Amino acid sequence: CGIVGYVGGQSALDVVVAGLKRLEYRGYDSAGVAVLADGGLAAAKKAGKLVNLEKELVGRPLPAGATGIGHTRWATHGGPTDTNAHPHLDNAGRVAVVHNGIIENFAELRAELAERGHELVSETDTEVVAHLLAESFSSCGDLAESMRLVCRRLDGAFTLVAVHADEPDVVVGARRNSPLVVGLGEGEAFLASDVAAFIAYTRSAIELGQDQVVELRRDAEGGGAAGVSVAVTDFHGAPGEA
Ligand code: GLU
Repeated sequence: CGIVGYVGGQSALDVVVAGLKRLEYRGYDSAGVAVLADGGLAAAKKAGKLVNLEKELVGRPLPAGATGIGHTRWATHGGPTDTNAHPHLDNAGRVAVVHNGIIENFAELRAELAERGHELVSETDTEVVAHLLAESFSSCGDLAESMRLVCRRLDGAFTLVAVHADEPDVVVGARRNSPLVVGLGEGEAFLASDVAAFIAYTRSAIELGQDQVVELRRDAEGGGAAGVSVAVTDFHGAPGEA
């Protein structure tokens, strides 16, 4: 239902949770976050209101990181439980994905993944995406390219936002028949299902087009101030403008 992604110089967790709060008016039944920090990925998710997630984060704090994603879920496939809440992770816990919409062909993808030895733990249509992204990433080593490959296999409506622990300065998004907006700040960038999520930080926003993938990449090389590059393509890798 509500999606937020962030890469930049602030605490990603704080920005993501603040963004999810700004999307609360849309209604939801569960909430979750994932951050990249110390070479790994850490996630927390809870059924119920955001306050439940915030309590969980007090009891079990996540490490501070500069890259993160978050979701408020309105369940369509699988009841509103902690396990069904987003983000969904692959079995190695290296990739995390949040999703708005419905993956129509998830049953067929689930069966295919199970045959290849993946263990799916939720009842959602979304979880297949985490596993497919992990598989693609292990062969191409590039999250945006993995997202393009996976999106070509999906039917239905989706806004997807994902991170991978092996690309700690990258957030990737994609959309079909469901909105995704990119926010551009100074040395930081945002992804969200609605500009309301990041309007407190920047008023510079672009809407991602139908069947497009966007990669936000933070580049701190050279000792200067970190910049964030934004690259948009279609699902086949042809450069596009958001
Ligand atoms: N179909 C997904 C689920 O049930 C996403 C629902 C949503 O848009 O929040 O988990």
